[in-house]
Amino acid sequence: MKILAVNAGSSSLKFTLIELPSKEVIASGLFEKIGLAGSYYTIKYNGEKYVREVELTDHGVAVKHLMDELISLHIISSLEEIDGVGHRILHGGDEFVDSLVLTEEVIEGISKYNELGPLHNPANLMGAKAFMKALPNVVQVGVFDTAFHATMKESEFLYPVPYEWYEKYGIRKYGFHGTSHRFVNLDISEHLGRNDLKVISCHIGNGASLAAIDSGKVVDTTMGFTPLAGVMMGTRSGDIDPSIIPFIMKKEGKTADEIINDLNKKSGLLGVSGISSDSRDIEAAIEANNEKAILAQDIYAQKIANYIAMYNNLLGGADVILFTAGIGERSPMTRRQVIEKIKSLGVTLDEEKNQIRAEFALISGEDSKIPVYIVPTNEELMIALDTMEFVSKD
Ligand code: ADP
Repeated sequence: MKILAVNAGSSSLKFTLIELPSKEVIASGLFEKIGLAGSYYTIKYNGEKYVREVELTDHGVAVKHLMDELISLHIISSLEEIDGVGHRILHGGDEFVDSLVLTEEVIEGISKYNELGPLHNPANLMGAKAFMKALPNVVQVGVFDTAFHATMKESEFLYPVPYEWYEKYGIRKYGFHGTSHRFVNLDISEHLGRNDLKVISCHIGNGASLAAIDSGKVVDTTMGFTPLAGVMMGTRSGDIDPSIIPFIMKKEGKTADEIINDLNKKSGLLGVSGISSDSRDIEAAIEANNEKAILAQDIYAQKIANYIAMYNNLLGGADVILFTAGIGERSPMTRRQVIEKIKSLGVTLDEEKNQIRAEFALISGEDSKIPVYIVPTNEELMIALDTMEFVSKD
């Protein structure tokens, strides 16, 4: 069975064509600058990379190009070979807590939550609509970034603010990266042959979040009402005192939206170091003894360590700590610094194993009180597996 996993952004569209149940990636690609000047796309297939510069006026045009290329590059011989399309959708509010088949009506329902994810949700849904038009007889499934966190209790997801904000406006913690946390939790559970694990999942990429998971259910996660909350990230601040916002608004004559933009795009590793949001650049600057880079990385690792300690307490003692996503999978330095900062939990690293990158591996020392793993994430595969469920039911 062939499933397309799709992640549509406001001006981009990422796809992976996956064979199931073998989990083999047949082809993948990215359409960029949709609706903008200089649009182009790349498709990877059979060890080749195809780059085409074409005008992509909207997502519908991009999808049309994709369908044509799948045939002309002989990736598939007919569109009927596509059994299902799974769409990553950022926000399902507290209503859409499971993956489901997308119809016009369902999309209408999801769009109620667009104001909770204004940068991503309308684009995710636009992408879904374009595929529904291009492949009207193929099942289309929505997979939500918020869904896995739906098991949080009120005592974890409520902010200590007037309760009516929650009732009137849905102000609560939703959490994100759910598809990734779900995937790595399934993987480690399968690997260890247990479904009762207490897991601290650290998804550390450009965006970063931790989740405390007990027996497959999220107890708490670090991102909140929006992805701005929690640990420090590449360009996001993570948790800060909200009083800073009106203070800087007055000092710099900026609007609240401008400050939120600064907190989303100009803070985190980039903001503190003044160098880059990319952890590879930060590591290079640390090698060159750049003080701001050293400081930025120190805060970064500390925030992650703080949440690990908190979640260890919340879970009543974790069985596993795992690292995933770009930095979690590939930065021995970040993992080492984080683990050094949770020494009080009796966690140790095997420094040789810690050099492993982007592979499933146990990296803790033999004496470590909690085993530490690298578990590579695969959100596309998770989306495809969810979609497969609905194809089988057809
Ligand atoms: P996104 O949140 O955009 O999906 P990723 O999970 O792809 O992000 O992670 C991107 C981050 O991973 C970047 O900060 C990048 O520097 C970091 N990264 C990728 N490869 C390495 C590496 N070899 N060493 C350190 N950091 C890396």
